[in-house]
Amino acid sequence: MHEVDMTRCLLLSMEEWKRGHAPATPKVTTVHLLVGSFTCVEPEQLVTTWQVAVQSSWLAGARLVIESVPLLGRCVLCNGTYAPSAEQGYRSPCCKHPMEEIVQGRELKIRSIDYSLSGQSSSHLAPCR
Ligand SMILES: [Zn+2]
Repeated sequence: MHEVDMTRCLLLSMEEWKRGHAPATPKVTTVHLLVGSFTCVEPEQLVTTWQVAVQSSWLAGARLVIESVPLLGRCVLCNGTYAPSAEQGYRSPCCKHPMEEIVQGRELKIRSIDYSLSGQSSSHLAPCR
């Protein structure tokens, strides 16, 4: 996925979130994002794209903080979880079974938003998507 598309997607989510506070516009200071390591996203690239995109919007000055989520697979043969590696072809170390199930590592979602509304600061936990 491309960072630009991703940023557009993020901005849409933020717009949606903002509507929940209408008619006031929350002043966002930080957006915490969960990014799986299996999403092919370059965190620095995403932060740069974000900074450019929000510059002239209601989100100007909002910082994007990325928390990366390591890839975790589940072996469908023995039900154990493991950290897949490209070197091993993402096979499970227990049964050498090809990766079929991903437990985590593909997420790209807003974990929380730090913002203030008419001078009162709070933190909002975004629902999982
Ligand atoms: Zn196994």
